Amino acid sequence: MLAICKGKSQVLFVSVSNFYIKFLYSYLVIRPFDPWKSKMCTCPPKFSLSPYTGCAHSCLYCYITSYIPDAFRPRLKRDVINHVKKDLRKIPSTSLISIANSSDPYQPLELKHQIMKRLLPILKKHRVLIITKSDIVKRDSSLLKEIGASVSITITTDDDDLAKVLEPGAPPPRKRIKALKRLVDKGIRVSARVDPIIPFLNEDVNHLIEELSVVGVSHVISSTYKLRYDSWNRLKAVFPECERMSTLYFKGGEWIGGSLYLPAEIRRKILLKIKQYAEEKGMTFSCCREGLPWTSPSCDGSHLIEK
Ligand code: SF4
Repeated sequence: MLAICKGKSQVLFVSVSNFYIKFLYSYLVIRPFDPWKSKMCTCPPKFSLSPYTGCAHSCLYCYITSYIPDAFRPRLKRDVINHVKKDLRKIPSTSLISIANSSDPYQPLELKHQIMKRLLPILKKHRVLIITKSDIVKRDSSLLKEIGASVSITITTDDDDLAKVLEPGAPPPRKRIKALKRLVDKGIRVSARVDPIIPFLNEDVNHLIEELSVVGVSHVISSTYKLRYDSWNRLKAVFPECERMSTLYFKGGEWIGGSLYLPAEIRRKILLKIKQYAEEKGMTFSCCREGLPWTSPSCDGSHLIEK
């Protein structure tokens, strides 16, 4: 009985301290990156910074709607620059900071607030990795070069019509590819996230991979769609292909960390094809939270940062 009580109090203590840590971090703008404590995550230790809460790109497959209220109505975080300055005092000056793992930093609101222009000089001592789906990032190419940042642009397809449905608020793939070229011309080392791959919708990415190699992308990151019910319902409402997809996910898939994954063998087959083609075109390849061994030189493209 005593042992049970002791066990319960330990569980209670752990839950209270987890809650306390989460509570503390909820006041930080720069937070340790920890994607749902996923055992599949192979990222190097890093911090995550999102100047905006929510994202106007409104991608059908987006997972932020599962934890951010009103996620497709973005808003700038209050007093974000001062919060960043304060938070920076609490982390080592050589830390890797990823901007942003959710809520695009270069979404249309950035044209109004210009917050990234003020943020980047403050981060000059740190290792900065930009992750975006927008060509607005090219506006800051000189600043990004100056601080040695690397940029990763997400492009899920080179089919503008498909992208318009999948990512209705994001710039068309053409513009994103041009932005990559502009960054490369500025001497910035870039990666591309061909992510997520959704079966029957955007599996054939060979032409896109070829275009990426032509503009000078060094590294490709890919992963398969991880189903959560909110994003699944949005996809299902638009794409008849979801019927075939549902057999793959709901009959053979596996739940990992709150998401339904495709069966391991199918994930491997899809990603191996992309890996082989990317490598054939002279780029390195890694995948993200797939439980596959292809995670080098880095799974997130951070090896391209110039420090
Ligand atoms: S760009 Fe990223 S954060 Fe924004 S809606 Fe699309 S998937 Fe979500």
